[in-house]
Amino acid sequence: MDRAEFQAVLSSRRGRLKTALTDQSVVAGLGNLLADEILWRARLRPDRLARDLTEADLRRLHSRMRSTLRSAVPAGCVPPRDSWLTGHRDDLDPRCPRCGTRLRRSRMAGRGTVWCPRCQPDG
Ligand SMILES: [Zn+2]
Repeated sequence: MDRAEFQAVLSSRRGRLKTALTDQSVVAGLGNLLADEILWRARLRPDRLARDLTEADLRRLHSRMRSTLRSAVPAGCVPPRDSWLTGHRDDLDPRCPRCGTRLRRSRMAGRGTVWCPRCQPDG
């Protein structure tokens, strides 16, 4: 999906960013773990409203999505690497691999969602 198409589809969505991103009609095959990983890399909170994203947010999100997929797809899954958010989501005391802040958890669209409150601030 090219950037213009991605931006048009996401900004027309109602609801939360994570929900929009995991909607199979937006990005086919984007799973729960990958969505959290991409949002963490793009420094966007999963519960932001999709339509409130700026042009710069959307551009960053698209670029992080591409680079994350490039690393994850050859591995056939999200690699549980230490430098990835995904590598820490099941830790007893999960910390952000970038800044060490304790990760937050919630449920969104029925799925467990993990994010860093420091790297992914509100708005
Ligand atoms: Zn962080």
